[in-house]
Amino acid sequence: MDESAIGRALADWFPKRRRDLPWRLNPSPYRVWISEIMLQQTQIDRVIPFFTAWMERLPTVRHVAEADRETLLKLWEGLGYYSRVINIHQTARILLEEHDGAPPAEHRRLLALPGIGPYTAGAIMSLAFNEPYPAVDANVERLLSRVFDIEEPVKSSATQKRLRRAAADLIPPGRARELNQALMECGALVCLPRSPRCEECPVRAGCLARRRGVAAYRPRKGEPRSITHLETVVGVLVHKGRVFLQKRPEVGLMPGLWEFPGGKLEKGEAPVEGLKRELREELGIEVRVGSPLAAVRHSYTSFRVRMRPYFCSPASSPESIRLEKASESRWVKPSRLPEYSFPAANRRLVADLAKLDTDDLSERLP
Ligand code: SF4
Repeated sequence: MDESAIGRALADWFPKRRRDLPWRLNPSPYRVWISEIMLQQTQIDRVIPFFTAWMERLPTVRHVAEADRETLLKLWEGLGYYSRVINIHQTARILLEEHDGAPPAEHRRLLALPGIGPYTAGAIMSLAFNEPYPAVDANVERLLSRVFDIEEPVKSSATQKRLRRAAADLIPPGRARELNQALMECGALVCLPRSPRCEECPVRAGCLARRRGVAAYRPRKGEPRSITHLETVVGVLVHKGRVFLQKRPEVGLMPGLWEFPGGKLEKGEAPVEGLKRELREELGIEVRVGSPLAAVRHSYTSFRVRMRPYFCSPASSPESIRLEKASESRWVKPSRLPEYSFPAANRRLVADLAKLDTDDLSERLP
């Protein structure tokens, strides 16, 4: 099979195996853009309810541009990687002001928008406009690395360039939309990471890795990323039946989300001492520490966190709180906590706290 035969075989196979995903019904530039951003680092099944809720609430770019940040963060809560939704907000405003309220049908101009890189620009150009641009996600990387038996590490810039060129060369005339979706779908459903289903594969006759018996070794990974383990402590600071929340800055990690104050324990530091130090540094106050809550473990891409929460109360007037890092703070009734957008690691803690009343809180204080 030559390249054009591989491209045609994939494009012909797609209509027979395609899944009916909500963003595939009416693949408008706006819907493709939002779905592709949601799908970054996130499984399809997990994205579907978020996408559906988003489109019900924000059916057009104008709705996104005019929404407040809190609304967007709440709709995104649970998807993680919150800088994605901040970029969507900025991009929606640019689209409204400069592009008639829709993603433009121009690759170069798409790439100039916040949060849109080569993959997303290629996906919008091909899936929404049927223009011949490659869109190489992890599933496509795996499939193409096997079809062309690429031995170099898949994340190297040379390999990424080669994969994009190979994906573009496969597009049959006028069939970019079908071909790119076929590559993604075949990678996701057939060319599976551990056990590729070669007998079902539309390009098995042209697959070099299969012929050479090396499919299990493709794509070749680079050096494994080291995982950092973090021990953290947070304070559920209580005053007059309300809990203290602070808002993260609008730039950096998890921008604009609400959180409980706290931070990393220093080497050999006891959790209670670490908590007192953190709140002194972050809020400028001394605290009395009460009962602990259940520790929470959470995994991010390159680090694992164990978070130890403690009830505590201000040892001096809460009026003297000064925010060192946060942009804003509030005292909130426990039952209202679920209305705020938190990092994923806080969700269980928030759910537990929301069940407590004033008496429950005071019992746990020192
Ligand atoms: Fe993947 Fe097998 Fe198809 Fe090759 S033949 S692309 S290894 S599923």
